[in-house]
Amino acid sequence: MTIHGEGDLKTEIAERLRTFVEDEVAPHAARIDRENAFPEDIYRKMGEEGLLGLARPQGAAMSTLEWAMWVEELAAASATVADIVCSADLVALILDEHGTQEQRSMIGPLLAGEAVGAFALTEARAGSNAAAIETVAHHEGNSYVLDGAKAWITCAQRADWAIVLAKTDQAAGTRGITAFLVERGGFTNGERPYDTMGQRGTAVGELHLDGCRVPEGMTVGEPGRGYKLAMKALDTGRIGIAALAVGVARAAYEAAVDFASRREQFGQTIASFQGLRWMLVDMATDIEAARLLTHRAAQLKDTARPYTTQSAMAKLRASDVAMRVSVDALQVHGASGYSRDLPLERYVRDAKLTQIYEGTNQIQREVIARQLLG
Ligand SMILES: Cc1cc2nc3c(=O)[nH]c(=O)nc-3n(C[C@H](O)[C@H](O)[C@H](O)COP(=O)(O)OP(=O)(O)OC[C@H]3O[C@@H](n4cnc5c(N)ncnc54)[C@H](O)[C@@H]3O)c2cc1C
Repeated sequence: MTIHGEGDLKTEIAERLRTFVEDEVAPHAARIDRENAFPEDIYRKMGEEGLLGLARPQGAAMSTLEWAMWVEELAAASATVADIVCSADLVALILDEHGTQEQRSMIGPLLAGEAVGAFALTEARAGSNAAAIETVAHHEGNSYVLDGAKAWITCAQRADWAIVLAKTDQAAGTRGITAFLVERGGFTNGERPYDTMGQRGTAVGELHLDGCRVPEGMTVGEPGRGYKLAMKALDTGRIGIAALAVGVARAAYEAAVDFASRREQFGQTIASFQGLRWMLVDMATDIEAARLLTHRAAQLKDTARPYTTQSAMAKLRASDVAMRVSVDALQVHGASGYSRDLPLERYVRDAKLTQIYEGTNQIQREVIARQLLG
């Protein structure tokens, strides 16, 4: 296995990442998927090894580009683990950029793998239209009281705390949404994590807030600025999801090349048939293009230039590539690809989610259209 774009990564850390993925993640990917169980040991070890929040100053202070390479590498072994890392890094980013000193003190335990955080925007009736959230926060004395329920929240069932978006002013539209840091106890969960199709084991589920009292000091950023904060964070989050999608696509492609080079039909390897050769070439070309878009968005962020359009483009293209490549890679395997004994069907299931979360691909097109056309 090679870290893609390795030249840009410090050799020592690249070596550490490679070893970690090979020894600690890849051997457990199938089990995590089968059991739909949060990978506690891996999460803790990533914390111990300093592999969470790699782009945070409290972590390894890597560039966004290097972080994207790490996410790709992880996802090629386990999309579930990569998604958990992306979720942790998203909440660490939000606290780092908008949190008070007290709130930022939560980043240390998170990056050490001792605590799990969640980002809670989506609700049962507010998905793509995030501005329609119905969770409310009423100001009472020195506190806010939150009521509502969040759905489809990564790490919800396992989270020690969550950044929760709630309406503090019903009449103010997106300017009436505020972010809160809510600790477990303030919220409860549904009975069990959702039984998802792919990226299983992320403890995705619900957060219920029933008269949850939060001190005033636990608003993240200023009251009324939560929606903007969330959209800005998702711009970065989408670079991570794009990298994750590239990782899944790469794993599927590499498996297809390996299989096609070994499998013989009609007295020759199936890799010698033009129909399959061109399929593999198209996969490799699509992956390279998706990776370049992802790295371009990361570099724009690293050089403090606008990157909303490019991160949406990267997420849009990379997730479509992951879907197409994983389906084609399964096809290259014939019947073997259809068996649960090989990871091809998992790659297809894992890839599908990248077209849905952090804004569906229809919404990515809307984001891009708004930037290009107003
Ligand atoms: C496994 C998983 C993990 C997730 N993790 C998190 C998390 O950690 N935190 C969080 O807050 N959320 C999370 N989500 C929620 C995710 O971001 C939403 O599911 C997503 O934004 C889509 O919302 P929805 O499912 O309600 O679909 P809907 O908004 O109901 O959309 C249904 C369909 O209509 C399309 N559609 C909607 N509006 C438009 C439009 N204007 N133009 C064209 N098409 C449109 C959509 O593209 C989609 O195909 C997660 C979801 C999943 C599945």
